[in-house]
Amino acid sequence: MLIIGSHVGFRKDDQLLGSLKEALSYGANTFMFYTGAPQNTKRYPIIDGLTLEAMNLMKENNIDYSKVIVHAPYIVNLANDSDPEKFMFAVNFLREELERCSLLGIKNVVLHPGSHVGLGVEQGITNIAKALNMVLDTSDVRVLLETMAGKGSEVGSKLEEIKAIIDLVEEKDKIGVCLDTCHLSDAGYDISNFDKFLDEFDKIIGIDKIYCVHVNDSKNENGAHKDRHENFGLGHIGFDTLINVIYNERLENVPKILETPYVDKDYPPYKVEIEMIRNKTMYDDLLERIKQA
Ligand code: FE
Ligand code: FE
Ligand code: ZN
Repeated sequence: MLIIGSHVGFRKDDQLLGSLKEALSYGANTFMFYTGAPQNTKRYPIIDGLTLEAMNLMKENNIDYSKVIVHAPYIVNLANDSDPEKFMFAVNFLREELERCSLLGIKNVVLHPGSHVGLGVEQGITNIAKALNMVLDTSDVRVLLETMAGKGSEVGSKLEEIKAIIDLVEEKDKIGVCLDTCHLSDAGYDISNFDKFLDEFDKIIGIDKIYCVHVNDSKNENGAHKDRHENFGLGHIGFDTLINVIYNERLENVPKILETPYVDKDYPPYKVEIEMIRNKTMYDDLLERIKQA
């Protein structure tokens, strides 16, 4: 079955219930959220009553909660430890984030591996693994390393780098991978023959490590290292390639998440994009339809 959803909000007052209702309004059967603002580490206590209510509503709507994803805030940088205080702040924040996810019953958290900022890729990889080993032993949540576009000094734009991190992590069942199609393309991977890409992934890391796929188009050409997401089918990856990723049988039970941009800053594209994905037909007037939805 197709498991498709998008990034949704998570507010202080309605929390998981609000996120779920937003996802349902898009016709989604899964979703991804940040437990607070992605750009800061201000977080509020989890209200169990709202979590329970959300779980019941998910059951009613046949949503498999084990596939719902949390995204760790992107300011957590585990790759650079040149300021030990900052590094430990990031480690501790990630630990708290995993605890929050555990309270919410979330199984998988997506994490940007981080930027080495001058230390070099190898040192970056060592730092990321060191940080993960400090938090994963006490956690029941799995961390998914996201494949990155290779902007600046980002670690994780090559599958070999992701593999090197995984190799250094002690708790192997608590580490996985999240593919991001925009990032893969920006990193220089050709996903137009997705089976061929998956073969390569399988050789280096193993397909069973993939627990989430972000399905975004890219505003830039292959290998651009820019990381600017485009609406579904309107970018350099294109509709057919993205549809082939989403419907690839080898990733059938893996949730697919849209992180495509709002149109004119005000209009969430997800309802129309999800409808288009289910219909496997590109809408020529996609942006217009989004504004009217
Ligand atoms: Fe991400
Ligand atoms: Fe992503
Ligand atoms: Zn991105």
